[in-house]
Amino acid sequence: MPDTSAAPATPAAPDAAPDAIVIGAGPGGLAAAAALHRRGVRTLVLERSDAVGASWRQHYDRLHLHTTRRLSSLPGFAIPRAYGRWVGRDDVVRYLEQYTQAHGLDIATGIEVSRIERATDGSGGWALPATGGRRLTARSIVIATGTNHTPRLPDWPGLDTFDGELLHASRFRNGKPYEGRDVLVVGVGNTGAEIAVDLAEAGASRVRIAVRTPPHIMRRSTAGWPAQRTGILVRRLPTRLVDRVAPYVERISVPDLSAYGLPRPGNGLYSRVREGSIPVQDVGLIAAVQARTVEPVAAVEGFEGREVLLADGSRITPDAVIAATGYRNGLEPLVGHLGVLNERGRPTVHGSRTPKEAPGLFFTGYTNPISGMFREMAIDAERIARAVARR
Ligand SMILES: Cc1cc2nc3c(=O)[nH]c(=O)nc-3n(C[C@H](O)[C@H](O)[C@H](O)COP(=O)(O)OP(=O)(O)OC[C@H]3O[C@@H](n4cnc5c(N)ncnc54)[C@H](O)[C@@H]3O)c2cc1C
Repeated sequence: MPDTSAAPATPAAPDAAPDAIVIGAGPGGLAAAAALHRRGVRTLVLERSDAVGASWRQHYDRLHLHTTRRLSSLPGFAIPRAYGRWVGRDDVVRYLEQYTQAHGLDIATGIEVSRIERATDGSGGWALPATGGRRLTARSIVIATGTNHTPRLPDWPGLDTFDGELLHASRFRNGKPYEGRDVLVVGVGNTGAEIAVDLAEAGASRVRIAVRTPPHIMRRSTAGWPAQRTGILVRRLPTRLVDRVAPYVERISVPDLSAYGLPRPGNGLYSRVREGSIPVQDVGLIAAVQARTVEPVAAVEGFEGREVLLADGSRITPDAVIAATGYRNGLEPLVGHLGVLNERGRPTVHGSRTPKEAPGLFFTGYTNPISGMFREMAIDAERIARAVARR
């Protein structure tokens, strides 16, 4: 049974100014709001879409959490056991709805915050111009708008000349529309790898996957031991040490796919995580590559009419290209003017820490830890709530 011991709902009266505003009703924002609510901090969550868990509602059909149910639960209300060990997309959405209800969170949907400004009333707080001409204020703001905010397409030369079908992975739902078609997936992160497998299983006539940097691949679970637990254990170890040990583990657990066009990665596993690239959790890629139903090819360099130009000089003419090329976090318009982002556009602090130049601004969900983001956002939520309550 889920833990339903969350505090009963006491939504902020619509006219009362909240003590804290959370921007974004994904798992990160909901966890922070619940932790704040449980500490008696009057909290309002602003969500631009019409429901909680908007990102998860849009993910592809076959998606399951790669992290276990137990290690992905948010504070104060566990993911129901009935959702299984690897929770499916629809159940993640259901869980987020149940979580909101169990904690009685006050969510205002259909409100997109465009910019965060210092309040001019001398309170030391923050003002948020939002859609519909609203202007909301609060002393503390938790920014939880997600790293998967804005689909990113590389600036490929000749892209505007391409007359084949091209879509970003964020718009892919399932392989059905691609039955009998030749498809190129660009990018071999977790999303690209899983979409390629889905296409092959759905009967695409040919599936190729363009690889710039060979990925680190891990089994999601080995003899019942989830890769996520290893991630948690090694999290605080020195990067060099993990980089040195990881290849031995990879050699034991993952076959050499070089003969199939997917060599072992030349760079360290944990160094790549630190750069923001987590290993691919195998949910069918290894078998599909070995069966040659998914063919690794060189990276995409550009487009020319019907052709896709690859880094090895070859040209191919797939019917469709699916770009699993990641996202931007979209924080620049929101907080770029406050000097709280680093040169890569990421917040300089997260969790309970708040920027020196912008006290009261908190960030959650902008790291990409090897230990699982749901888990880290759950930890951050408690820390943020403690820090906000202290303010
Ligand atoms: C395909 C995929 C699989 C993943 N699998 C796992 C996994 O197995 N385990 C794990 O731990 N993590 C996983 N993650 C990573 C991470 O846990 C999820 O991306 C998670 O949804 C992040 O939560 P979030 O709240 O930070 O962002 P989101 O879930 O993206 O939520 C952000 C919310 O903010 C809203 N919003 C954005 N901008 C504004 C604005 N300006 N004003 C108001 N509202 C706004 C959005 O509509 C959205 O509802 C996965 C990510 C992806 C993309």
